Amino acid sequence: MRISARASSLKPSSTVAVMNRAKALKAQGVDVLNFSAGEPDFNSPQRAKDAAIAAINANQTRYIETAGDLASRELIAGILRERNRIPDVTPDHVIITSGVKMALYMAFQCLFDVPARAEDAQELLLPVPAWVSFAPMAQLAGAKVVELPTTPDSDFKITPEQLRKAITPRSRVLLINSPSNPCSTMYTPDELKALADVVAEAARSIAPDLVIVSDELYQNIVFGDVPFASIGSFSAVSQRTITINGPGKSFAMTGWRLGWASGSGEFGKQVISAMTKLQGQSTTCVPAFCLAGMREALTGCQGDLEVMRAAFALRGTLIYDLLRAVPGVRVAKPIGAFYVFPDISAHLGRTSAGGRKINGAADFAAALLDEHQVAVVPGEDFGSMGHRHVRMSFACSEEQIRKGIQRLSAFIAGLR
Ligand code: PMP
Repeated sequence: MRISARASSLKPSSTVAVMNRAKALKAQGVDVLNFSAGEPDFNSPQRAKDAAIAAINANQTRYIETAGDLASRELIAGILRERNRIPDVTPDHVIITSGVKMALYMAFQCLFDVPARAEDAQELLLPVPAWVSFAPMAQLAGAKVVELPTTPDSDFKITPEQLRKAITPRSRVLLINSPSNPCSTMYTPDELKALADVVAEAARSIAPDLVIVSDELYQNIVFGDVPFASIGSFSAVSQRTITINGPGKSFAMTGWRLGWASGSGEFGKQVISAMTKLQGQSTTCVPAFCLAGMREALTGCQGDLEVMRAAFALRGTLIYDLLRAVPGVRVAKPIGAFYVFPDISAHLGRTSAGGRKINGAADFAAALLDEHQVAVVPGEDFGSMGHRHVRMSFACSEEQIRKGIQRLSAFIAGLR
């Protein structure tokens, strides 16, 4: 059986792989502490669930407008104007998609061309470490991925100078993800503005097609002293930015599969209209009853959001303090989202108590799971230097965090 080159070249998601392995071990009765989850451990807000159930009972079970019903798009456009301070956003500038993944996937499909010759590929400028699906999705759309490496010492942030040097006439999309998965660090509003100015300047000179895709999925899970800002709020790039978000992480609604993409002004309208065409030929629309639940979450569930945000703040401080005390582990302070991405490279080249050689994060994670039943995601798929890191989600109880770091410390103490 022949499978297309496009699909065969695709790597399976490493985060999903670890999650499945941990779940399989758990099903066998093994006491696994799972730090691989990329979703809140809370339940969806009751009011959102009630609204969705009521919508099903009211027979909101048929196809709706491709981009999502007007009331939902109006609500999202209002939030983008008022909270995110992005100008010129109307319901025509918003498309609601099956999760943030589909919003990103379709945005890339509508921005990148498939080149006739590989050397002409348009470029995704990707600050790394980056969430595992950005690069494969861009490559599927025909892009070449250009990594912009960062380190824990600079809170995993690129500098304006680094961005300026990376831009070429083929640069098409700069990806921004603040707060970041896997780093949980954030750009300050001033830092975002400086990056926006570099993009605007490059667009006037060498890279006229350069735009920004800003994945702001963790916007509401912020607990440090850096205020959240949307890069699309800066006038220099508002008509060059596609802003992507969704209710999954903020409102513990990951399984509802909702997300949205938005743009500003004439540029935004054109990109959203192209994405709507694509959605019309692929998923058709998202379920109306899910949108009823989403509207309730966005308008009536701030209390639930705050409870979860406060819990993540406490857990973030706890895991950071505990990890910092583990020998040979370097970690940036999490101030948004719910991950840490510790550098464990001091331990590479060593051998575990169970006799496994630790040559990279994948070996580290596999030995840690087998010998101490702690599931973490190896960093390899988060970009270059990823083999020096593992990702741990702290969307779990404080008790699990304490136990997990104890086991991690015991594992590290056993390395020879
Ligand atoms: N972007 C980022 C940065 C993420 O962390 C995730 C989920 N792990 C997604 C997008 C995908 O979100 P969704 O589940 O809404 O498709």
